[in-house]
Amino acid sequence: MTKIIELLSAVEHPAMEGDIVSLGIAADLKIADAQGGELDPEAEGVDEKIASIKFKLVFPSPDPFSADLKKECEEILEREFPEASVTIIEMVAPRRETKRTVDELNDQELKKIGKIIAVASGKGGVGKSTVTVNLAAALCRKGYKVGIVDADIYGPSIPKMTGTEGISPLVEQATNLIVPIEKWGMKILSIGHLVEPEQALIWRGPMACNALKQLIMQVKWGELDYLLIDLPPGTGDIHISLVHDIPLAGAVIVTTPGQVAIADVIKNVNMFKHRDINIPIYGLIENMAWFTPAELPHNRYYIFGKDGGRKMAQETGIPFLGSIPIYMSVSEGGDTGMPAAMGDNPVAAAFASISTSLEK
Ligand code: ADP
Repeated sequence: MTKIIELLSAVEHPAMEGDIVSLGIAADLKIADAQGGELDPEAEGVDEKIASIKFKLVFPSPDPFSADLKKECEEILEREFPEASVTIIEMVAPRRETKRTVDELNDQELKKIGKIIAVASGKGGVGKSTVTVNLAAALCRKGYKVGIVDADIYGPSIPKMTGTEGISPLVEQATNLIVPIEKWGMKILSIGHLVEPEQALIWRGPMACNALKQLIMQVKWGELDYLLIDLPPGTGDIHISLVHDIPLAGAVIVTTPGQVAIADVIKNVNMFKHRDINIPIYGLIENMAWFTPAELPHNRYYIFGKDGGRKMAQETGIPFLGSIPIYMSVSEGGDTGMPAAMGDNPVAAAFASISTSLEK
């Protein structure tokens, strides 16, 4: 059996979780001998006879890492098979028919939305959903019509945060569009409103992408000034496909100030800036920047380090939009309270100020 498969199995996709063989990206391997005769990859001792190697790298959608991966494969194979010619065809998987239909159907709805903005983070737990809900609330407070989509299939926390858990959205019969849930004057739809969390977690690549696109496109949003999308954390295939297919006006990136977060921020920035995607980045929001205890209202404790977010923004060349302090009741939400940004507190001021960057 040829060792090509084993060699390619060691090539990891930098953003998706897995190697190019198990992700199904490397495909259609064809090997031939010096006379051009096709060889059987399974045959014993076949590697001695290989004179040409051809295969495809098929990406689910335009991929910022495709050229790097192709180069890496070429280098590995040319090193192992110095006598052989190596041809790698890089391509994007053809689109499915269903997608076009969905697009056509919902173009009308999407045209009614002023700006669709993605809220992204490199990893979970940095407060991406909290920031999404509160930015939306800050914009709503300024009089804009705002919608929120919770596309975080790994942990849809917006139903809980907005006290809309357990509510199932209706589907308008005539149009087959999902009717979003309304709360505090905002329109809200989460993947958690449609499926059980465990179900969403096991979705892989294309299935998750299609479901998430429907969650955004197959919805009766009506007239909106802003639609904020709480993306799943990370920069995997789901993200690349989503940000490629949704007409985004721009993205904001959320991080905590910690040093380790910079690598994640860089990945996010690179994803949005990649030439095939090319989505403007409004900038970086630093969440959980400091803590002020109630009994010492003038003190700021920089638990994760001071000015980390500002430095990260500088290093990655994107604007710094502002910091949000740690505030215990930030996500009380639910039936007990409104999003902090709708109240009168230090976080509301921070969100009001940051939301002005989205108005430009
Ligand atoms: P993510 O969407 O990035 O996974 P969440 O928004 O769900 O993160 O936040 C993770 C946890 O951190 C939640 O319990 C949330 O209440 C808390 N949290 C987020 N931002 C703040 C903040 N500024 N102050 C206090 N707690 C916060």
